[in-house]
Amino acid sequence: MIEIQGVNKFYGKFQVLKNCSTHVAKGEVVVVCGPSGSGKSTLIKCVNGLEGFDEGSIRVQGIEVGDPKTDLPNLRTRIGMVFQNFELFPHLSIIENLTIAQEMVLQRTPDVAKAKGMALLDRVGLADHAAKYPGQLSGGQQQRVAIARALAMDPMAMLFDEPTSALDPEMIAEVLDVMVGLAREGMTMMCVTHEMGFARNVATRVVFIDQGEIVEDRPTEAFFSEITNPRTQTFLGKIL
Ligand code: ATP
Ligand code: MG
Repeated sequence: MIEIQGVNKFYGKFQVLKNCSTHVAKGEVVVVCGPSGSGKSTLIKCVNGLEGFDEGSIRVQGIEVGDPKTDLPNLRTRIGMVFQNFELFPHLSIIENLTIAQEMVLQRTPDVAKAKGMALLDRVGLADHAAKYPGQLSGGQQQRVAIARALAMDPMAMLFDEPTSALDPEMIAEVLDVMVGLAREGMTMMCVTHEMGFARNVATRVVFIDQGEIVEDRPTEAFFSEITNPRTQTFLGKIL
């Protein structure tokens, strides 16, 4: 589903991604972890074209993201992205946050969009909050709305960039529960996260990136059971 091949990216002379290659097969959950500044956000943003790259290839369902002829806005409507800071539309109600792109981009009728939005709010446990505004919800609730909003577009894959790192501890679990549910249903997911419990539970593979380089890319079991690479050891030593 997502094929990343030999990607290099520079900010001026600084090389932020160094010959990165990995993939996410359909139905797979790949967790990406690594120290702050290692290039995790940059890599995941390259997948849906929010960041460009200089060399290499990224294909999503066979579509080359780096090809200037690719219709990136169209591709992005089919890949759900959830960020650290929710990024809901503050001036729209919760249900309007879920329906606007369905209506404007997918041309669904207001009734169809609303039914879909309400079903998804119900699924993330927030049906009672449909008429509220983002500012009236807790961080964990806003993040669940953000996930529901992405799902409303029937994405072929979901990208997460540290979706729980801005949340208080008691809210992290409610967001992770939604993500675990998605993973169990077979959603294709690429998740930047340091939640190693989540990784152990549902990830098929774990990618460890350090200074722009993919240092490890291994099945979850192997990643956690034989930590041999000193860079991975140091990193896990700090967060586990
Ligand atoms: P964090 O865990 O803190 O979110 P990260 O692994 O997501 O870190 P990135 O945000 O991808 O790291 O950044 C990777 C490196 O690229 C960092 O050194 C950062 O300072 C640098 N960088 C990011 N964006 C830019 C930019 N627009 N211009 C120049 N350098 C940048
Ligand atoms: Mg980041």
